Amino acid sequence: MPERGLLLDRDGTLTVEGGYLDDPADLVAVPGGREAVAAAAAEGWRIAVVTNQSAVARGLVSRERLDELHAHLAELFPAVEAIYDCPHHPDDGCDCRKPRPGMPRAAMADLGLDPAHTTMVGDHLTDCEAARAAGAAGILVSSGHGARHAADAEAAGFPVVADLPAAIDRVLAG
Ligand SMILES: [Zn+2]
Repeated sequence: MPERGLLLDRDGTLTVEGGYLDDPADLVAVPGGREAVAAAAAEGWRIAVVTNQSAVARGLVSRERLDELHAHLAELFPAVEAIYDCPHHPDDGCDCRKPRPGMPRAAMADLGLDPAHTTMVGDHLTDCEAARAAGAAGILVSSGHGARHAADAEAAGFPVVADLPAAIDRVLAG
C-alpha cells in the first residue's frame, strides 16, 4: 500500500492564528486538533507540517526561536514526523514559499509519500495551490484566515471545511 500523507499548515490550521508568534507558550492547538492528528496517525497516515515563516526574514522571529517554537509544536503533536518551514521573504523568490511546491515535494520525498494519496490542509488558497502544484490534493479550512479565501478556493475546485478536525474526518473517510 502506498504511503498516505497529511501535510498541515501551522498558523490558523494546526494552531490558533496569532500573528507573528515569538513565545512558544503562545503556540496553541486548534480545538480538537491534537485528537484529530492522533487519530489520523493511528490510521496509518504520515504527517508533516509545511509552513511559511517570513517572520524570520522580516527580523520578527530569530531562526533559533523558530526552532524552539517548532520543538514545542512537536511536543503538542507527537505524530508530526517533520516540520518544513520557509524562512524567506515573499520578495526573495525562493522555491519553498507556498504556493510554490518546494516544501510539499520535499515532505513527500522524505517520507516516501504517494502524491495521489497525500492531502495538504491549510487556511490560505496558497496552501491548496502548493499542494496541487506538487501533485497532491488540497483542502481549505475556514479557521484562521480561511474564511476570506473560501470563495476563491471553491472556485478553484478545492473543498472547504470548517477546521482541521473536519478536514481530517474528510480525508479519513476517503
Ligand atoms: Zn523559502
